[in-house]
Amino acid sequence: MNIAKVIVDVQAKEINQTFDYLIPDRFKDILSLGMRVIVPFGPRKISGFVVGKASSSSFSNLKEIVDVLDLTPVLTGELLQLGKWVAEDTLTLYITAYQAMLPQVLKSQYKKELIRTEGAELPPELEHLFAGRDIIAYEEFEHSTIRYSQLQKAIQVGSISVNYIVKSKITKKQISMIRPAKEEHLLEEAYLEMPKQANKQRELLAYFIQHPKEIEQSKLLNLLGTTRSTLKPLLDKGLLTAFKSEVYRNPYNDDAFEKTYPLDLTDQQKQAIAPIKENIAQEKHNVVLLHGITGSGKTEVYLQAIQDVIEKGKEAILLVPEIALTPQMVKRFKGRFGANVAVMHSALSNGEKYDEWRKIHRKEVKVVVGARSAIFAPFENIGIIIIDEEHETTYKQEDQPRYHARDVAIKRGQYYNCPVVLGSATPTLESFARAKKGVYELATLDKRTNNQDMPEVSIVDMREELHAGNRTMFSRALKEKMEQAISRGEQIVLLLNRRGYSTFVMCRDCGHVTECPHCDIALTYHKNSNLLKCHYCSYEERMPTECPSCTSDLIRYFGTGTQRVEEALTQLLPEARVIRMDVDTTRRKGAHEKLLKQFADKEADILLGTQMIAKGLDFENVTLVGVLTADSMLHLPDFRSSEKTFQLLTQVSGRAGRHELTGEVVVQTYTPDHYSIELASKYDFSEFFKQEMKMRRTFHYPPYFFLALITVSHTNQVKVVQVTQNIVQTLLSQVNNETVVLGPTPSPITRMKDRYRYQCMIKYRNEPQLRLYIQQILEQFQDEVRKEDLLITVDMQPYHLM
Ligand code: ADP
Ligand code: ZN
Ligand code: ZN
Repeated sequence: MNIAKVIVDVQAKEINQTFDYLIPDRFKDILSLGMRVIVPFGPRKISGFVVGKASSSSFSNLKEIVDVLDLTPVLTGELLQLGKWVAEDTLTLYITAYQAMLPQVLKSQYKKELIRTEGAELPPELEHLFAGRDIIAYEEFEHSTIRYSQLQKAIQVGSISVNYIVKSKITKKQISMIRPAKEEHLLEEAYLEMPKQANKQRELLAYFIQHPKEIEQSKLLNLLGTTRSTLKPLLDKGLLTAFKSEVYRNPYNDDAFEKTYPLDLTDQQKQAIAPIKENIAQEKHNVVLLHGITGSGKTEVYLQAIQDVIEKGKEAILLVPEIALTPQMVKRFKGRFGANVAVMHSALSNGEKYDEWRKIHRKEVKVVVGARSAIFAPFENIGIIIIDEEHETTYKQEDQPRYHARDVAIKRGQYYNCPVVLGSATPTLESFARAKKGVYELATLDKRTNNQDMPEVSIVDMREELHAGNRTMFSRALKEKMEQAISRGEQIVLLLNRRGYSTFVMCRDCGHVTECPHCDIALTYHKNSNLLKCHYCSYEERMPTECPSCTSDLIRYFGTGTQRVEEALTQLLPEARVIRMDVDTTRRKGAHEKLLKQFADKEADILLGTQMIAKGLDFENVTLVGVLTADSMLHLPDFRSSEKTFQLLTQVSGRAGRHELTGEVVVQTYTPDHYSIELASKYDFSEFFKQEMKMRRTFHYPPYFFLALITVSHTNQVKVVQVTQNIVQTLLSQVNNETVVLGPTPSPITRMKDRYRYQCMIKYRNEPQLRLYIQQILEQFQDEVRKEDLLITVDMQPYHLM
């Protein structure tokens, strides 16, 4: 086996295959599948993954592997197989899928250098840049003002060449350690000989005579209240030695979590956990949909199922939505399983993420709690995979590879013969339909563990408020209830359902709305900076003082951003203390936790925020939840908008009255009769499921039909339409007649970053060759994609229809 099959790091369709390389003798013993290597590719050296070995190749003149980046494989055999499946299922390149499975720091980085060809003439700017040297770092060029085209020309005529050096960005954290360098009696001798005034040095020596082992330098100096200058003479004399030791950055202090113990399960919980436990015991794969209302004890079920898995010596993956990965959630898992838990979410630094990943990779933990990408945790003996809040759209990756964590979970569950548990108070229609059909097993928890009822929901018709002369964004009912709650010393959560809303700027005289010059979308007003910003590209401009269209000075901002609500709130209830939580106030690392802690410590009466406050939060003193604009999401061009509205309302209602105090919910809306709002206020999931399924069937949407979305974009609108038209025609000639192919249709945001976007939507039930057809289409346009900057993206399970 002296030939390695390598997937190389080139993001191009025509390279999406393995390439054969010779394994030089020096690597024969160490090279195994799943390792990263450096290989020559054309004139360059690039990295790649070894996915196979062979003893012969059908190609001659094979090149040799230049370097091996790992000593242990970063991808297991199972993950190699899984990555291949992900790539093929989502129509992505293999390399993209493999890279998505690894922490960022393992994506080796290329360092480029520019080499001047001997004796070559250079244009003056480049001559100046090289300044007599033969080789310069590429960054020097990047930092200069020389245009790329100029360098490109020099490369084309051969006076400069580019060399790629691969540099792995791994940064292991090192700390300084001190240990005695001599035997105890020699230290004692030195101690006695040391002059009395060398007080601190004697203390240091005395310490090591009593504790003859290594200690962290900073701890030691702290302990003895001294500095490195005292240490130095002892190191110089060879009495002590300093050395570096690798440590994990542990973002969580494991000792700080109070140990928790399994609770006695309620009868409902016992029934729900039974099929899961049985599958764990029998090492059988199936999918259990755990449909449990908020506060019904789903998390306790997860914890006890994981306990079983650990006792069998196996491993567990628990996925939670990014936003729900709050300190409260982490506390429950660390409290039960201590240092056995790795936590992976995006707020960690790259180094911290890498450390958590390494704990899994080295089998030092048994449980990983993490957001979407934790589904690729490199465990090799998985006993359960749990997806909490399974309805959350964050489980679908909106970038390549466009995978859904649920599908990956089931694939891994099948491989390891273990159960997959999907938990939610408001399951997706897809999952619930599968449970009803018996594809998944259904377990139900319909009582809260404290036996409290779900809070009462009242719907307020905002049109009536308007008729009654109330032009504010707070109904009279909500205002009154807020005042009462505050006077009782209780707290309030206010949700501004912001999606689809923005603070846009409009002229009151002529109606002119200020839009981004590059995207088909109104600019958003940011009060703090007094800037108008585009949320799709980075364009920004100052807030105009007069209308650009008619020069009227009656130009104002509209809409209800959280900032404006906060202002209005302070006017309405001047004595109320408000914490605002949105993308702006939580941008800094740790800000999210800090604000939540302030609220938990009762430093504010009202928590005002966007979707991010709807999930997972558990405050005992919250008795009132207000939803300011329940229907703002209903009118988006998205067939899931009713489902999302229902889910959000149910979720946010669950924030009230979770403990002794009873809670209530006020939902403000302009469409009080919409079934998703009406049924959410009654917590009637099964009726909602029935009605929504009817809609889906009528309009040919999931779960009755599968969807695929092809989006074409280019700067030339005519070209985009032509290409999309061509795709539609091609597909129509291939698919069966039950399949619907729609398009070319302008995407809801038709122009973004100066590119026009059109789409083709495919609705199908049974189309086993569809991926192949789309592959062929992508191949057909390959040249235009490469040369003319045409972009075709495919989403085999679209969630974002924008
Ligand atoms: P969910 O995840 O369904 O929202 P949780 O697991 O958070 O529900 O449970 C809600 C509350 O009930 C938590 O405070 C939890 O500690 C408590 N709880 C869960 N199971 C039990 C039980 N069997 N006995 C007593 N309390 C329980
Ligand atoms: Zn105007
Ligand atoms: Zn823009």
